Amino acid sequence: MNGRDFPWETLLDRLSAFYRTGDWRVPYLRDHAEDPFQVLIGTVLSQRTRDEATDVASAQLFAKYPDPDSLARAPVAEVERLIRRTGFYHTKARVIREVAAQIRDTYGGVVPRSFAELTALQGVGPKTANCVLVFGYGIPAIPVDTHVHRIANRLGVVRTRTPEETERRLAAEVDPKYWIPFNPLLVQHGQNICRPIGPRCPECPIADICATGQALREGRDPPRPADRPRRPASGGARGGRPGTPPRGRRAATTRRRTTGRRPPSRRGRTRRRRPRAGRS
Ligand code: SF4
Repeated sequence: MNGRDFPWETLLDRLSAFYRTGDWRVPYLRDHAEDPFQVLIGTVLSQRTRDEATDVASAQLFAKYPDPDSLARAPVAEVERLIRRTGFYHTKARVIREVAAQIRDTYGGVVPRSFAELTALQGVGPKTANCVLVFGYGIPAIPVDTHVHRIANRLGVVRTRTPEETERRLAAEVDPKYWIPFNPLLVQHGQNICRPIGPRCPECPIADICATGQALREGRDPPRPADRPRRPASGGARGGRPGTPPRGRRAATTRRRTTGRRPPSRRGRTRRRRPRAGRS
């Protein structure tokens, strides 16, 4: 099934009910308005960083430098200290100060609201630009992070190698009326149920419309990502008879991915995380 035929309305209805986020048809900014500049900088900070580290670093940074002018004038060593926990902080400090200066000098301190202008800023790629449009301005776009990319592939609506490729496909095939709630709901689902390893398919509220959920329920192989070719049935270099489950550490990972069973060490980590836009 491609993105044009997929029942997106059912998916959004079920996920918003499951996570109690309210009616996704209500304009997003009514309850979730964010400062476009802080969305932009926060998204840059989130690159290759855990959500928790991004949240703490962003709060520290914006407490001292909440707008383009103050951040552009901030001492670089101080910025590095405040964002250190996000990793790559030398590069990120340089980039966010430069972006702040560009917004101050070129746009009078107001973050631009077009994809072309946003992606012309240094260090701002498609995902960051789309986050600003959606979470800062309420303009329809589909920010595709690792959660959205992974879930779209598991649903079976795309078979893509990169988030950028997924974004292009989704933007071409999904009706724009679904774009704004798309990222926040799928990210929340990716953090809680459709996790990178050990998706909890038996508990999933959209399992019946998901290609992976349907395949597992019917005892078939789930669709595989485009960047993960099928391993030989013989078990490859590790040996093993055709049709027998693979063995070893990688095999355990494969089983978790396909059965949804979590390893003992991760039990207890089942708390539901608060809703958050996906910018990692
Ligand atoms: S059924 Fe499984 S793979 Fe599909 S969306 Fe739900 S958790 Fe993810």
